[in-house]
Amino acid sequence: MFEMFEKMFIIKHYKQLFTIKCSYVIIIARQKFYVNTKKGDNKMLVSMKEMLADAKKNGYAIPAFDVSNYEMMKAVLETCEEERSPALLMGLGVDLQGKNMNLITSMVQGASNYFNVPVCFHLDHATEFDFIKKAIDAGFSSVMYDGSVLPFDKNAENTAIITKYAHERGITVEAELGHVGNASVGSISETGADEDPGESLTVPNEVAKFIEITNVDALAVAIGTAHGVYKKTPTLRIDRLDEITAVAKTPLVLHGGSGTPDDQMKMAIKHGITKINIYSDVLFALNQSLKNTLNNISNPSTWPFIVYEDAIKNMKEVVRKKLKEFGSVGRV
Ligand SMILES: [Zn+2]
Repeated sequence: MFEMFEKMFIIKHYKQLFTIKCSYVIIIARQKFYVNTKKGDNKMLVSMKEMLADAKKNGYAIPAFDVSNYEMMKAVLETCEEERSPALLMGLGVDLQGKNMNLITSMVQGASNYFNVPVCFHLDHATEFDFIKKAIDAGFSSVMYDGSVLPFDKNAENTAIITKYAHERGITVEAELGHVGNASVGSISETGADEDPGESLTVPNEVAKFIEITNVDALAVAIGTAHGVYKKTPTLRIDRLDEITAVAKTPLVLHGGSGTPDDQMKMAIKHGITKINIYSDVLFALNQSLKNTLNNISNPSTWPFIVYEDAIKNMKEVVRKKLKEFGSVGRV
């Protein structure tokens, strides 16, 4: 109402506006600028829907990178633009506590305006509905609900509620069926359960039913990978993936992509995976470079842009390698 009045006022009294007190004009200008900027930013982030549909149709995968800070975001966005790949960035719960949720989302939203490729910001591994709501309010364009440790019925029920809520707001949802464990904190790889990961793997005959109940946009499957740093090389169950692909209508997601041998990932893409999550590989490049640089710097007051120079360069090379290997180069 106020906006309509404001517009009519501006049209009717265009000439007189110049005679109105300067401060009032500045207030109107500031208000309009703020509103327009916010709307513009929100429009720039896209959901995963079109990205994954194109990947599924054309047989490639998009690497999805968790970004914990400005330097990681910059490395991913710059490389995606240079390689003409869709940019799929993810936020991790641990980085999004309190005000950080808005700070990181604003950073990615704002940055997306300066890169000429589609950018999706996807919430990685959320287990609470309230947290997902907050993420959507903050500006995430896609979310993952992870009910993978719950029994099938409860996982499906929760996922369906979240999918309905998210779809009403144009947000895509990824869910997980079966459970991808943690290599670095004691799970299937570390405990040696790799030989018999039976219970944690996705059960193919549950897949179609889960997708039907939940209406999810993407499904993370457990076929032998794990999160974190592997203690021993994983062996992906491509036979299991084939059974899942045969019955899954939605694009499939592989978690724990870091450290998984390249040939196995290529095989997984060939057999139906369209999104592969990467975190540890980029993190290693960041921390290793910082360690080397800082060890060689004699002046602790060196400018950050110099300190981070090699780290960004090395993270970009990791990102570029994944984009090329997964086949997402030149797609936009
Ligand atoms: Zn994951």
